[in-house]
Amino acid sequence: MTAIADQTDPAPDAERPLGLSLRRGLACRCPACGQGPVLRGYLKLRDTCPACGTDLTPARADDGPAYLTILVVGHLMAPFIHWAFVTWRPDPLTMALLLSAGCVALSLALLPRMKGMIVGFQWARRMHGFGAEPGHG
Ligand SMILES: [Zn+2]
Repeated sequence: MTAIADQTDPAPDAERPLGLSLRRGLACRCPACGQGPVLRGYLKLRDTCPACGTDLTPARADDGPAYLTILVVGHLMAPFIHWAFVTWRPDPLTMALLLSAGCVALSLALLPRMKGMIVGFQWARRMHGFGAEPGHG
């Protein structure tokens, strides 16, 4: 359906800055206007932006947010575990409890931001019919 979407896009070549869209997504804001929240509740994607009306239904984040969250949390926590063990030598139970809590907290904080970022990426690159919404090309 990409060909149909491209035909209805009023400005198929209009630039959608990727960096700006990613930053807006990281803030869980609409990639088009940067104002409206893209998520309802913790992770549920809204159908439209409440501020500008951009259709958000073409977004297909799937497992992307979880993948990116694991990637970031792993790369942050693995060196921290090494550093914490070498520096403090905590007993195993203390270390396991503190690092588990840190991993969970960091993951919960990052997951919706990664989802917003993926929606921003897909919008900026006109993936999955994101080029088709009238008035926001
Ligand atoms: Zn918007």
